[in-house]
Amino acid sequence: MKHSYIYADNAATTAVSPKVLDAMLPYFTEQAGNPSSIYKHGRDAQKAIEISREKVAAVLGCTPTEIYFTSCGTESDNWAIRSVALRLGEKGKKHIITTAIEHHAVLHTCQYLEKQGFEVTYLPVNEDGFITAEQVSSAIRNDTALVTIMYANNEIGTIMPINKIAGICHERGVLFHTDAVQAIGNIPINVKEQGIDMLSLSGHKIHAPKGIGALYVRKGIPLPNLLFGGGQERGKRPGTENVPSIVALGEAITEACSDITGKARNVERLRNKIIDGIITIEGSRLNGSRENRLSGNANVSFLGVEGEALLLLLDLKGICASSGSACTSGSLDPSHVLLALGLPHEIAHGSLRITISEEITDDDADYIISSIRDAVGHLREMSPLWEEVVNGKEHTRKLLKFVSEIKTKS
Ligand SMILES: *Cc1c(COP(=O)(O)O)cnc(C)c1O
Repeated sequence: MKHSYIYADNAATTAVSPKVLDAMLPYFTEQAGNPSSIYKHGRDAQKAIEISREKVAAVLGCTPTEIYFTSCGTESDNWAIRSVALRLGEKGKKHIITTAIEHHAVLHTCQYLEKQGFEVTYLPVNEDGFITAEQVSSAIRNDTALVTIMYANNEIGTIMPINKIAGICHERGVLFHTDAVQAIGNIPINVKEQGIDMLSLSGHKIHAPKGIGALYVRKGIPLPNLLFGGGQERGKRPGTENVPSIVALGEAITEACSDITGKARNVERLRNKIIDGIITIEGSRLNGSRENRLSGNANVSFLGVEGEALLLLLDLKGICASSGSACTSGSLDPSHVLLALGLPHEIAHGSLRITISEEITDDDADYIISSIRDAVGHLREMSPLWEEVVNGKEHTRKLLKFVSEIKTKS
């Protein structure tokens, strides 16, 4: 697909791929039967749902009956966490472990449960954006019901040590859920081999439409209903199925998870080119580690620049990017993820997230780099903070240790 703009915000959402669109379209029109109906149109729709379930299961290394289709990643996260809390809370297990850098779908669910009498441990990350399995191990208590830790972070792309964490949870008899929305299609996953008990994923981050997700729940873990109604999704999540989107998810996940390492190689090369091209700007920093990072993710802060202003200038140049997660833009609070890295507000506010896909070319990467360099220079000309930094003002000194060297006038 050739666009009049460069799309570098794939962690926020992705376009539906042509193959996925082709696969789903018939289910809007000539194949529009209700999967619960007994005539051929209905049976065909039911068959399409089950084929899609098999595709999702094949990619995750589980059985199809362990997959539930949901409306999105948020719903999957909510269902997983609340169902364990509901079930084990009754047995006195009212402690949950998570991290400070989860998506709001997890964080706000945990905060809700705190109001219901649960205790939640929010593990802090180190300055590179990681938690360790040892932190999880020390946080587990006799009354811990669930450990929920994201596979990869949506803002800074850091990949958590999921295998070790799952291993520890198993040893200690605690259920382990992971929000793998950003990991799917970027990291090969096998829930059985990795010991993952529950996993959330979303379609629109992997070229399926918005409004479709899935939850994997290991066989043997009782799953309370999300909704009450008919018999769909084995009666657990009733409501007439979103057949076109379910078909799309099956197609998209198969596409996303074929040759993951091959695709990642080129994306990573271009991503590194972008990082190298912009962290040479003085007063900048890369957020999140270079290693164990999603191949398409670059997150860089520029001192003396407002992230929102930078986004607007890039938009004028035809570049779609983000200054944190799309969910936090519109609020003036800096991203909770960047603050969790220990960044001062002044630096967290000047952050830019670039998330590229295979569609990006070398020319695009060069254009992204030069546009960012121009925009940062332009914004700093109008920035009182930058002027103070360059003039070596005392109160700005504490900021300097977070960013690359700046030529000051003093
Ligand atoms: C996008 C995202 C979600 C939410 O998925 P939706 O389908 O938009 O509800 C949850 N977790 C992470 C890590 C995400 O990136």
